[in-house]
Amino acid sequence: MTMTEAAPVTEPRSDGVEHVDVVVVGAGVSGIDAAYHLRERFPDKSFTVLEAQDNRGGTWWTHRYPGVRSDSDLFTYGYRFKPWRGPSIAAGEEILAYLDEVVTENDLERYIRYQHRVTAAGWSTEDRRWTVEVTRDDTGERLRLTTDFLWMCQGYYNHTKPFQPQWEGMDRFHGVVVHPQQWPEDLDYTGKRVVVIGSGSTAATMIPAIAEKAEHVTMLQRSPGYFFAPPSTHELAVTLRALDIPEEWTHEILRRAYITQLDELARLSHEAPDDLRAFLMESMRPLLPEGFDVEKHFTPKYRPWQQRILFVPDGDLFAALREGTASIVTDTIDSFTETGIRVASGEEIPADIVITATGFDLSVFGDVAFTVDGEPVDFTERITWRGIMISGIPNMAYVFGYFRYSWTLRADLVSDLVCRLFEHMRDRGATTVVPTIRPEDAGMQVGPWSDPENFNAGYVLRSQHILFKQGDREPWTHMLEYEQEREILPKADLDDGSLVYS
Ligand SMILES: Cc1cc2nc3c(=O)[nH]c(=O)nc-3n(C[C@H](O)[C@H](O)[C@H](O)COP(=O)(O)OP(=O)(O)OC[C@H]3O[C@@H](n4cnc5c(N)ncnc54)[C@H](O)[C@@H]3O)c2cc1C
Repeated sequence: MTMTEAAPVTEPRSDGVEHVDVVVVGAGVSGIDAAYHLRERFPDKSFTVLEAQDNRGGTWWTHRYPGVRSDSDLFTYGYRFKPWRGPSIAAGEEILAYLDEVVTENDLERYIRYQHRVTAAGWSTEDRRWTVEVTRDDTGERLRLTTDFLWMCQGYYNHTKPFQPQWEGMDRFHGVVVHPQQWPEDLDYTGKRVVVIGSGSTAATMIPAIAEKAEHVTMLQRSPGYFFAPPSTHELAVTLRALDIPEEWTHEILRRAYITQLDELARLSHEAPDDLRAFLMESMRPLLPEGFDVEKHFTPKYRPWQQRILFVPDGDLFAALREGTASIVTDTIDSFTETGIRVASGEEIPADIVITATGFDLSVFGDVAFTVDGEPVDFTERITWRGIMISGIPNMAYVFGYFRYSWTLRADLVSDLVCRLFEHMRDRGATTVVPTIRPEDAGMQVGPWSDPENFNAGYVLRSQHILFKQGDREPWTHMLEYEQEREILPKADLDDGSLVYS
């Protein structure tokens, strides 16, 4: 069958329970990747993508605040199979347009069902299948599907409820408080005094955009992050495009260039963290206004790479600081007043609008209630199999991309492995696969799925207690570096005894 011919896709039936070979949960970058791979590699499998929101794009549909953009380069954030033709760092809208092209070119739209929120998934060993409970967010209708395999592409945070800390006095503040995840389309900040609480990439990307129209924007951070200000388009891309090189080549060459750069960052962060820190600090200094207190506002408490390094294309955040349209206060919040925010030093920052760029509320598998043979699954007691499957959970894979490399690099690797697993099961005549702790692994050390020594972003640390664990050896680990996994995952032994087939 060619890509243009119709692949099996079932229509919802009103008379009974519909069955599909695979259910993909989520139509963000990962869910579209999964659908592409299924369509490409298994044209005979029926599948559907269930998406809670009313449109595709996941993160890029949820986050539509001014200036929203990637902070990874799009050559690696884009898929391996679809060349990126734009600037290295892209606006949210450009990413959505790219995803639309992927959906259209591969005829994926007809597989996606919007406003279908998966609420529960129950595995029956007897029936060898999942029963998936769905609520339609538009009509409230409840549906039920069965499937052989669940491919969870739900991302890592709650799309409807952001992480919103409460501070004393918030209720007496006369201005507007907004979370970037719930940006009101009609919010007019022209000529307004805006305070953005946060120091992550959301704060860094929105501040220059808002500063263009606001009277002034203050970035209020408790502690600083690491920044790096590369050009928004890689000079190699400019050269290759000027030479009229096919976009496929440019895509591949730029992917390799960026991956090499990130590998080098990862290597330096482990082998020479002090040198890397000095390099990052020194590269920022000339971009800042004369006499700027770099030690106070730009000296993080953690090692570089323990959190994502914030990319500021063309240094636009620094330009806003130089022009005086934005400034930084590094302090803790004491309370909100009627007219602004008071910080611990006693200073009061006047504000008409406060934007709480305070991050996400991490959710475990899209808040789907899992059961296996009627028993509720407590993920905190489970161990990850290579950051792709979970011990004791049959026929389920999940996508968790990289935090520091582009998410999609891992989504592509995971898709490859899941496809290889499907082929392997077909060759073995198996219908069920269960990650199972082998006798030799029984006494292994178990710890948080993400080692805080290695990666310590707030939303991960806040949620360790609700997440699954990892062991001290392969295949029971979740690796964070593409450099390792691009070698390991394609060769991972599917017959090492940790996957039990029947
Ligand atoms: C503003 C912002 C900028 C970012 N920039 C970058 C970047 O530059 N580089 C990078 O690598 N990463 C970045 N990230 C991380 C980003 O989340 C990932 O890159 C990627 O978009 C995740 O894609 P996903 O498809 O796995 O999950 P998501 O984008 O989170 O999409 C998951 C989808 O699943 C749906 N869903 C969830 N639960 C259910 C359910 N129970 N039933 C049905 N549907 C469900 C959601 O509605 C959502 O549409 C950024 C994140 C944010 C918030």
